[in-house]
Amino acid sequence: MDHFQLKDGVLHAEDVPLTAIAEAAGTPTYIYSTATLERHVRVFREGLGDLPDPWIAFAVKANPNKAVLATLARLGLGADVVSGGELRRALAAGVPAEKIVFSGVGKTAGEMALGLKAGIGQFNLESEPEAETLSAVAQSLGMTARVSFRVNPDVDAGTHAKISTGKAENKFGVPIDRALAAYEAAAKLLGLTIQGVAVHIGSQLTDLAPSCAAFQRIGALIAELRAAGHSITHADLGGGLGVPYDPALPLPPSPADYGAMVREVTAGWDVRLIFEPGRVIVGNAGILLTRVIRVKQGVTQPFVIVDAAMNDLLRPSLYEAWHNVRAVQPNGESFTATIVGPVCETGDTFARDRPMDRVQEGDLVAFMTAGAYGATMASTYNSRGLTPEVIVSQDKWAIVRERQPIEALIAADSLPPWIEEQA
Ligand SMILES: *Cc1c(COP(=O)(O)O)cnc(C)c1O
Repeated sequence: MDHFQLKDGVLHAEDVPLTAIAEAAGTPTYIYSTATLERHVRVFREGLGDLPDPWIAFAVKANPNKAVLATLARLGLGADVVSGGELRRALAAGVPAEKIVFSGVGKTAGEMALGLKAGIGQFNLESEPEAETLSAVAQSLGMTARVSFRVNPDVDAGTHAKISTGKAENKFGVPIDRALAAYEAAAKLLGLTIQGVAVHIGSQLTDLAPSCAAFQRIGALIAELRAAGHSITHADLGGGLGVPYDPALPLPPSPADYGAMVREVTAGWDVRLIFEPGRVIVGNAGILLTRVIRVKQGVTQPFVIVDAAMNDLLRPSLYEAWHNVRAVQPNGESFTATIVGPVCETGDTFARDRPMDRVQEGDLVAFMTAGAYGATMASTYNSRGLTPEVIVSQDKWAIVRERQPIEALIAADSLPPWIEEQA
């Protein structure tokens, strides 16, 4: 459930009419709901039930906006980061270092040093050479790094190929049948303290069976590692829980279903569990508000041309993602249309042959479930400045990232000395 509802015929974010935000902030703009973020955190926590002291590290890559991170940090969440930039953003938003997990297949020595100096809670290692580098960096700083290996369990997550990460052929993690050897080698490295095991098989998971199979393999591995003398105090089960995008489809498993499965599979593991939810926390807490530039009659159907484009919300063109489209002031009529942005790419299509509210030039439209992997994937393609972001709390709202002016894009470039600046 989210807090984007029609009131008196106008779509609101909590108690704020979207028409008021469009008026003041312009379009396109991302809008996040604090009450929805709070609700999702509460539902996720409640779903975990009586697990002792779970460590919930929000996957920053899903939405790194400072106001969003600060909201989540105040609710007690940690952060799962995949770059030095995300690490710095999490710290800047007030996430305590000890609640930060550093994931990612290509951490550089510089990023490792940043994490060590900050005092983060765990590094998730993805290979033996990475373990050697981290150990060397830690030793050079006179520190030790707390580590888990991310293990690739070779299960098919049953999601889109571009967001599947747990098959043997994917770039992520140490193959599960080589994991024991990796731990043996890491145990000899003086800059590391082995803390646990990590796994993450993919995103937008709509079936619990692949996660369940992966966690069972991790449970067996933990027993094997302990038998070999390694102390395993943590198990990081990653993120990936899906969210409802299309109201016509069956609901994905709820956090309660997920939590029940986790409690069953991990009973007796005797570890502190770590979770890295991203999409399930922010997905339905955000929308992309856009305005219809014009409606153009195509040969087979109308095209609704909106002022948002693939550079603002890449998911439909990147992985055929489906976003619900709602008129902000629906007039009760509907039609079937294809919704496109102004960017010069056929891929700049948000929805094809979509039954939707009959909108016309100047109307406001919202792309729903745009809080995860939305603004963070934006680019300036076609020299379009980055989309602003707004956060709402009850009847209050604030612009928390300004629209990037074209002057800033132009000023970022400079000329080489052999081309003279024109007056
Ligand atoms: C992307 C990612 C997540 C978050 O995935 P969601 O599907 O957004 O929950 C968690 N952990 C790791 C390692 C990731 O790469």
